[in-house]
Amino acid sequence: MTSEQPALDVDRISAVIFDTDGVITDTARVHAAAWKRCFDEFLRRRGRALGRTLPPFDVRQDYLDYVDGKPRLNGVRDFLAARGITLPEGSDADEGASTDGTESADTVHALAARKNRYFLEEIGRYGVAAFPSTVALVRELRDRGARTAAVSASRNCARVLTAAHVQKLFDVRVDGIDADELGLPGKPDPALFLETARRLRAKPAQAAVIEDTLAGVEAAHRGGFGLIVAVDRGRQAAELRRLGAHIVVEDLGELTVSGRRRDSMVVDL
Ligand SMILES: [Mg+2]
Repeated sequence: MTSEQPALDVDRISAVIFDTDGVITDTARVHAAAWKRCFDEFLRRRGRALGRTLPPFDVRQDYLDYVDGKPRLNGVRDFLAARGITLPEGSDADEGASTDGTESADTVHALAARKNRYFLEEIGRYGVAAFPSTVALVRELRDRGARTAAVSASRNCARVLTAAHVQKLFDVRVDGIDADELGLPGKPDPALFLETARRLRAKPAQAAVIEDTLAGVEAAHRGGFGLIVAVDRGRQAAELRRLGAHIVVEDLGELTVSGRRRDSMVVDL
C-alpha cells in the first residue's frame, strides 16, 4: 500500500470492469483446489507409468505461475510445459472421465474438462461467496453513476455470478462464451477488456479494470486502461505493479470513491 489512500474518481473514470474469479467472487481457491485434484491424479498416473514419483501440483506457486487467470486449455499446456510434459491436444469430445489408471485418456482437452467438472462439483456442493467489500464498492460506484461490468475468461461466469447473487450489480457481462463466439484471445491479451469497454460505451482511458492476476493486470495495461487496480491475494504486489497496476490493495475496502452521483447527472444507457 502507498501512504496515500487509494482512490477512484468517478468524474475521471466512468466505467469499472471487475474481474470475476478472485475479485468479485471468492472462487480462486476453489479453482486452485480443482486444478490440484486434476493435475495430482494425472501426475500419479504418469509417475506410476514411469516407475517414479512426480512432485504434486503446488496449490500456491504452480497455481499462480501457470494457471491463474488464464483460459483453461492454456493453463493445462503451461503447467505441463513447465514439467517438461507434452500431451496430445485431444478435442472437446474428450470428457476426461476416465480415472481408471490408464494414460490413454489424458489429453490437454481431457485434463481441462476434468478440472472444470471438479470446479462445478465444488460450487454445486458449497455455493459461491462474493467478497463483501467488492459488493459494497460496486454499489457505491453505481450510486455515483459509474457503469459496471463483470468479466471472466470462464464459460461458467453467469453461473458463478448467479450462485453468488450478484448478477444484477453489473450492466455488462463478458465471459468465456463471448470470447469463444467472437474469437477473442485470452489474457494477457487485452481483447476481453476492450470488448467490455466497448459494450460499456467507455473509452479504455476512461475506464478502470480491477484484477487479481498477473495476466489480468498485464492485459489491462496493454489495453491502455485509465486506472488499473490490483487486488493482491497472493503476496505479489511488486510484480503486479511492474506489470502496470496503478494501485495495489489487499482488499477493495481500502479503495475510496469520489465524484459524481447519479441524481446529479443523466445517465445515458
Ligand atoms: Mg481473477
